[in-house]
Amino acid sequence: MDLLNTLVEKGMRRELPTREEALAVLATSDDELLEVVAAAGRVRRQWFGRRVKLNYLVNLKSGLCPEDCSYCSQRLGSKAEILKYTWLKPEEATEAAAAGVAGGAKRVCLVASGRGPTDRDVDRVSRTIEAIKDQNGEVEVCACLGLLSDGQAERLRAAGADAYNHNLNTSEETYGEITTTHTYADRVDTVNKAHGAGLSACSGLIAGMGESDEDLVDVVFALRELDPDSVPVNFLIPFEGTPLAKEWNLTPQRALRILAMVRFVCPDVEVRLAGGREVHLRSLQPLALHLANSIFLGDYLTSEGQAGKADLEMIADAGFEVEGAGTTTLPEHRAAGGCGSAGAAGSVCGEGSGGCSGGAGETASATGSAPAPEAAPAGARTDLVAVRRRGAGTDLAPNA
Ligand code: SF4
Repeated sequence: MDLLNTLVEKGMRRELPTREEALAVLATSDDELLEVVAAAGRVRRQWFGRRVKLNYLVNLKSGLCPEDCSYCSQRLGSKAEILKYTWLKPEEATEAAAAGVAGGAKRVCLVASGRGPTDRDVDRVSRTIEAIKDQNGEVEVCACLGLLSDGQAERLRAAGADAYNHNLNTSEETYGEITTTHTYADRVDTVNKAHGAGLSACSGLIAGMGESDEDLVDVVFALRELDPDSVPVNFLIPFEGTPLAKEWNLTPQRALRILAMVRFVCPDVEVRLAGGREVHLRSLQPLALHLANSIFLGDYLTSEGQAGKADLEMIADAGFEVEGAGTTTLPEHRAAGGCGSAGAAGSVCGEGSGGCSGGAGETASATGSAPAPEAAPAGARTDLVAVRRRGAGTDLAPNA
């Protein structure tokens, strides 16, 4: 297909595709799916080989958020029966992080619900970052605490944070339909603050919220413009008890086309397969490893993920390898900027999913004991959505 040849050539040169080309990827048929995956897989291998970076989420503070992000189980008025707890103590967070690192995670993502941190919250998270770094100097730490005020990114950086996550989530044009308590511009501002403080910026999207192909292309092009080092791609987990509970409109094939489009537009960036992969890709998850070079290990913020052991088996079976702590994630030209290099004092991050800033799939999801949907739309797989009941904030062992 001429389109795919052109996109592979552009991806190898880090050249931006046209909007029409990106839209054409999303419009390809299921018959063409393997060709699309193969083409985007060539670009992925050019910049990241067959390595898969593992990331581990620690939900520092769960639920009780005053913001109204429609996709989020932690939102104001959410009826989702998620775990709700206030700040974990630094030692509790460090213990949770250690479980992820022991499972193979190279990066720990510290996430807290809320509009944004107070200065006292930044102090608290700084102590947690320092404790994690004391225990394991090689682990990358990414913070995801919502909208940042002036000076907070610098303080997190000084405490040892490598990266900061804040997702754009969807296009500027439709942002107001998803959230009313803050703006798209607020989110862009926080990503820029992270960049400005020397943190590796991580910012991504949520697919499956009822957006158009144009919206998806808009947000991915906006991300390319912002130039984060990592881009988490979340697939909405339609949590019962949230306004988007009935938005079951992704197929595994659609999810793969979205990932391929992101890879073509952001060829040399750490593309992270984030929340919702188990729910929407289902048995096609291994194909996504040809497109994304990074995944979360174990559970998400408020929903349960595939068992960590199953993740490792999937990676090995698909012919990929877990990226080691001594390996630089990003290609040389990008890592030189500071992120992505495991060793550098300031390196990358990229998390995503999670939290607060968004992950659509966010990381949260529904169910388990939540009430059954009144009328689940065709294709809904509510059986695959389970509220997290273990790990951080509980007395039960984490899934890592
Ligand atoms: S995404 Fe973050 S800011 Fe929005 S409701 Fe959820 S926890 Fe709050």
